[in-house]
Order: sequence, then C-alpha cells, then structure tokens
Amino acid sequence: MNPIRIAILGYGNLGRGVELACAANPDIQLVGVFTRRDPSSVHPYGQDVAVWSADELAAHTDEVDVLVLAGGSATDLPEQTPAAARLYNVVDSFDTHANIPEHFAAVDAAAREAGHVAVISVGWDPGMFSVSRVYAGAIMPNGADYTFWGRGVSQGHSDAIRRIPGVVDARQYTVPVPAALEAVRSGANPELTTRQKHTRECFVVAEEGADTAAIEEAIVTMPNYFADYDTTVTFISQEELDRDHAGIPHGGSVIRTGTTGKDGENTHVIEYSLKLDSNPEFTGSVLVACARACARMAAAGEAGCRTIFDIAPALLSPLTGEQLRATML
Ligand code: NDP
Repeated sequence: MNPIRIAILGYGNLGRGVELACAANPDIQLVGVFTRRDPSSVHPYGQDVAVWSADELAAHTDEVDVLVLAGGSATDLPEQTPAAARLYNVVDSFDTHANIPEHFAAVDAAAREAGHVAVISVGWDPGMFSVSRVYAGAIMPNGADYTFWGRGVSQGHSDAIRRIPGVVDARQYTVPVPAALEAVRSGANPELTTRQKHTRECFVVAEEGADTAAIEEAIVTMPNYFADYDTTVTFISQEELDRDHAGIPHGGSVIRTGTTGKDGENTHVIEYSLKLDSNPEFTGSVLVACARACARMAAAGEAGCRTIFDIAPALLSPLTGEQLRATML
C-alpha cells in the first residue's frame, strides 16, 4: 500500500506536532511544509521534508493526498481552510467553538464545489472531547454533562496577560477545582458556577520597576478572562519562567453522570480524561489520524465538510477491519 502523502500549512507548535505524528505512523508520509514566512527560515525536523512558500499552494496538488492546516484559529483558519479546500483534501483544528457552524458552511461550500473532503475542528476540544460528549449523551439521555479543563496552559489567557503594560512575559494555567471534580464523579449532579469549576494560576514576569499591584489588579479584574474566576498571580523572573514553565501541557475530563432504572435508582458515571505533556503534539496526533480518515473518505468518492461526528472509528485506525474485530472489539 502506498503511504498517505501529507503536507502541512503553517509550521508553529501544532505544525511541529503534526510532523512528529507523521513520523510515528508508517502508513503516513510527510512530503512538505508550506509557510507564509521565508521558506529558508523554516526548518522541519525531517531532512527530506520540502519547505514551500504558502504562495505556491496550488503548485503541489499532485504530490499531496491531504493538506493538514496548522495555523491559528483566530485569523488564519477562517481564511486558509476554505481556500485550501478548493485545492486539496484538508484537515484543520479550528477551535473557536461558537464559530464552528459558520466555518463549516464556508468550508463545505468550497470542498463540495471542488470535490474534496474537508475535516474541520479536530484535536481534543473540539475533537476527542466532542465525540465523548456525543457517545455519552446518546446512551444516557437522563443525565448532565460536565467538562473540566486542565491543569494546563491556556495560550489565549497567557497572551491576554502579556498585553498588560509592564508585563514582559506570562504563563497562565487553568486548574480544575478538586472538590468540584469529586462532586461530579460522585454522581451527585451538582450545579456548578464558572468560579466553582476552575481556578486560574498566573506566573508573570514584570518589567524592572513596574507597579506589580496594578498589574495584578488588571489581571484579576479582566472581564471574560479572569473576573469570573478565583485567580492567583505570582511574579517570577524570566529565568524561572523559562526553566519551570516552558512546556505546553494540557488536558481535562469530559464527564456525563446520569441515571437509569424505573425510578432512576441506578447512577452511572462516564468519564473520558486526558493528561497531556504536550498539547500541540497530542493535537497533531489527532489531526494525523483524521488525515488518514480524510484520505479514505476521499478515495471512496465523498466530498464536502466533515467533523469528528461523521468519522467512523475504523476510518481513523491503521488496522484493517479484520484486525480491529480480532483485537479491539
Ligand atoms: P502558533 O502560534 O505556534 O502557530 C500558528 C502559526 O503562526 C503557524 O502556523 C505559523 O504559520 C505562524 N508563525 C508565524 N511566525 C512564527 C514563528 N516565528 N514560529 C512559529 N510559527 C510562526 O500556534 P499553535 O501551533 O500553538 O496553535 C495553532 C492552533 O491550533 C491554535 O490557534 C488553536 O486554534 C489550535 N488548537 C486546537 C486544539 C483542539 O483541540 N482542537 C488544541 C490546540 C490547538 P507560518 O508557518 O505560515 O508562518
């Protein structure tokens, strides 16, 4: 069997994660990386991986089965995914939950017109967490859903702190409240406010002589980001930040608790949990499994936009149907 030929558009944290995931899958071959920067400034791990300018996207369609988009959700993917779906079968990790319907419609129109398959919004949330929510809800209609994130780095919250005057660098961790997790896992179906579910820990490097009290106040009162949470702010040196907070860990739990029985007397707890040392490397691994499914759906003659809900589990796996039935069922 010929390997599935992948290219990556955008080579940041996630792009590197996708490259590493390609190397871990013998049926996948990474052929090239597209970047908007000067290609000579971008260095993939693999010596034989070509680096092409994103301006040349249309020039390599014969060499690539699936293009994996690894750009940012805020401004890159809303433009890049529909444009790329006109040229390639594509996979992206678009994670602005509220805008997924709009993104789906734009990508679906482009992919259908071109006869390509586009898989959007895969990763872990949206992605693996989403499919866990659907499985749990489908089999346990009488119940409640809970999602806890962390302990992990939120890039968006870290960026928001960095924009405060006097801040040089920052890292923000989202942390689930242990008592809330415990109450949910007990099956008690508690009603929890935002503040009761998560706390936020901020590690901040301030400019020399900066007013740290003012920075702390600006953080803890910041609407949407911190005001609704119990937030702690710790000022540290750049050295400490680089030494102790360089990683990009994340994870969390999707939990559904519910009841069955004539009078709802039996309680059930379904939990899917992730503890990730590297958010982009894990997300990249999900994108590559979805690229395999994307190539298979395209080979079967499908066209249009898909999400994780539309992908049968067998399409994600490198194992054959026979192997899956013998070992996984
Ligand atoms: P980065 O900021 O590391 O990279 C985004 C883009 O920035 C790159 O593709 C790259 O494009 C560009 N870039 C510009 N300058 C540089 C530079 N000096 N070094 C590296 N990249 C540069 O973002 P991430 O890779 O961490 O995240 C990408 C997206 O992944 C996030 O926006 C998020 O939406 C999504 N995500 C989704 C998850 C999910 O569960 N669904 C989980 C985690 C992330 P170019 O090469 O063209 O310049």
